[in-house]
Amino acid sequence: MVAHEVIVVGAGAAGLMAALEAALGGARVLVIEKTPRAGTKILASGGTRCNLTTTLEPRLAARLFGKQGERFLRGPFQALSPQALRQSFSEWGVPTMTAPLEKVFPVSGRARDVRDALLRVTTAAGAEVRYDTPLQNLAAPEDGGSTWTLQCADGEVLESKAVILASGGKSYPRTGTTGDGYGWLQGLGLPLTQPRPSLVPLRSSAKWVQDLAGVSLQDCELLLQGADGQQIVRRRRPMLFTHRGLSGPGPMDLSGRISAMGENPQVDLRADLLPDIDRESLRDELLSLAAQPGRPSTAKLLKGKLPKRLVGPVFAACQLPIDLPAAALSRAQRHALVEALKRLPLPVGGTLGYDQAEVTAGGLSLSALDSRTMQTHDHPNLFVCGELLDLDGPIGGLNFQAAFSTGFLAGRAAALSIAGK
Ligand SMILES: Cc1cc2nc3c(=O)[nH]c(=O)nc-3n(C[C@H](O)[C@H](O)[C@H](O)COP(=O)(O)OP(=O)(O)OC[C@H]3O[C@@H](n4cnc5c(N)ncnc54)[C@H](O)[C@@H]3O)c2cc1C
Repeated sequence: MVAHEVIVVGAGAAGLMAALEAALGGARVLVIEKTPRAGTKILASGGTRCNLTTTLEPRLAARLFGKQGERFLRGPFQALSPQALRQSFSEWGVPTMTAPLEKVFPVSGRARDVRDALLRVTTAAGAEVRYDTPLQNLAAPEDGGSTWTLQCADGEVLESKAVILASGGKSYPRTGTTGDGYGWLQGLGLPLTQPRPSLVPLRSSAKWVQDLAGVSLQDCELLLQGADGQQIVRRRRPMLFTHRGLSGPGPMDLSGRISAMGENPQVDLRADLLPDIDRESLRDELLSLAAQPGRPSTAKLLKGKLPKRLVGPVFAACQLPIDLPAAALSRAQRHALVEALKRLPLPVGGTLGYDQAEVTAGGLSLSALDSRTMQTHDHPNLFVCGELLDLDGPIGGLNFQAAFSTGFLAGRAAALSIAGK
């Protein structure tokens, strides 16, 4: 008899959820985890607070994964919705609360509570978790057979009737995710979309950008254009200048599109520093400033609107002296200043790569599996879930929700398949 009916590879968010569901469905489940602990990324997430899901409705949440991602995730996000996930964690002793940008955190503010609760319910449901057990090779059942063979790094060979791959992507490799899953998928002849770093800070070697390290904008709209000026994507979210470039939700949300363009991306990134004020109003404000007594400086326009340290670079971008009185501004200079505020060019040379990336875009092509079960079309009883799939969403708890929802369906389907249903 095969000792384990279902083997889950990887004890992250997707793997633990899959193991829980498979065990609750009556299967004998073993989770093998490469590192000495479960849920390392849960522990590190959201600044150790764990933004575990979103307040968005399933349909709106799915829409944030691009056209293909939306189509694929619509079902999984209904099957285990953000609301249902919050309800489950609440029942497991981890009530959640909402935060700006549609984020959801545990009330305790401790990522550890999320990880511990998930691990506790998973093992309580009967799943065994074996640590320091990296999977090395995976072999599909021989002709006519139904037993999967899993070879671990220490030489041990495990067998199971179903396999759920949940080994994550390549980002943050120091946490154990080094892209091992891609090799197994390729070995089985499954199609991969080229992996690339996403949700990663952007690199800029411009001195003025680096000199602004520590300056943040709570509301800023970024526009990413190709070298031909075609709009690629627009995103209105906070931004942070760092000593290496740009970080925060806005730049990080765009990073996957930039890393998709290769090592030396030719992009044109622009920032609308005052997205709530249109050009016309800015021009009117400048004109009324010019009419005020005492010849106030043009820079007075920005008082209270922009961080002080950003004013100099804005003036430099439109080649205006910072002490120029508003009354002395020519029409062309007024136009240049307004454009600098609404379309400030931000020079970027790429991303900081997998080392700093919160997720990996690309992975198993979505056409290779059934979104109702996460079972691959070509290999019965091979299920894939979480970040190993060609799915990546923006910052805001969406990536954990995708991991939990796809893991949930994979676990449930694996148990049903074992039970012959
Ligand atoms: C710093 C940081 C902060 C983040 N913050 C958030 C956030 O607040 N909200 C959010 O939604 N998302 C966040 N993310 C993204 C989120 O962590 C991932 O989307 C999510 O962890 C993916 O889950 P997963 O289970 O698919 O993969 P992972 O969590 O990466 O789990 C994969 C598991 O498989 C194991 N493994 C790998 N190879 C093998 C092998 N050969 N054999 C056995 N086991 C193996 C790994 O050790 C790991 O435990 C963050 C990511 C990082 C790095």
